[in-house]
Amino acid sequence: MATLDLNAINKSFGAAKVLHDISLAIKDKEFVVFVGPSGCGKSTLLRIIAGLEEATSGQIVIGGTDVSTANPVDRGISMVFQSYALYPHLSVYENIAFPLRVQKMDSAELDSRVQKAAGILQLTDKLHLKPGQLSGGQRQRVAIGRSIVRNPKVFLFDEPLSNLDAALRGDMRVELSQLHRNLDATMVYVTHDQVEAMTMADRIVVLNAGRVEQFGSPMELYHHPATKFVASFIGQPN
Ligand code: ADP
Ligand code: MG
Repeated sequence: MATLDLNAINKSFGAAKVLHDISLAIKDKEFVVFVGPSGCGKSTLLRIIAGLEEATSGQIVIGGTDVSTANPVDRGISMVFQSYALYPHLSVYENIAFPLRVQKMDSAELDSRVQKAAGILQLTDKLHLKPGQLSGGQRQRVAIGRSIVRNPKVFLFDEPLSNLDAALRGDMRVELSQLHRNLDATMVYVTHDQVEAMTMADRIVVLNAGRVEQFGSPMELYHHPATKFVASFIGQPN
């Protein structure tokens, strides 16, 4: 069970307080989107969940276990970034396999995990190519493959589609929703794009200036916005 509970997370950088008392209970296998304007604290919150940044106070609890002080690799979490730094000199296969090579996994298990991820992401016939020979969407899928092979309990995505053109972004939204169904994993997806949030999320967290304005389904937010900010942010076409 990969529930994800955030308990009273606060974060300051020096005198600047960027997250204010964030508490959220995310269900097992839920697809939750954090949405809010640039600078509202989305990436900082995701980095705290991943263990790449330390909260000033508060707890991160995954599947009932407090992981607040656990190493990033021990949290059962994998993060996909906006700038998906692939290794240009390595094949698609080796890019996907990379985290498993680091773990020194034996080659039979490694191969079966890479082949499975490639199948899910429709990269099976691309495994021998280099990233430079792929389209933008295919490169993003390789970055996602690198997450899948680790069998994480929770996937975190930080604006993974914002470098792609509009048409490809639409396709990738559908692919990521399918991925969520195929993997049965808990996913937290960060975006500043309201359309992305409304079309992809089971539930949406609207963040503004480091605070949760509302946590609810797209329909709840649309029909019953808790604040003026939510009403204008969700209503605003992008
Ligand atoms: P978002 O991802 O929503 O655009 P961020 O989480 O990146 O927002 O940033 C939230 C706030 O925290 C911003 O004001 C940003 O300048 C500040 N911030 C982020 N990281 C740091 C850091 N390492 N040091 C100081 N301030 C930071
Ligand atoms: Mg960000």
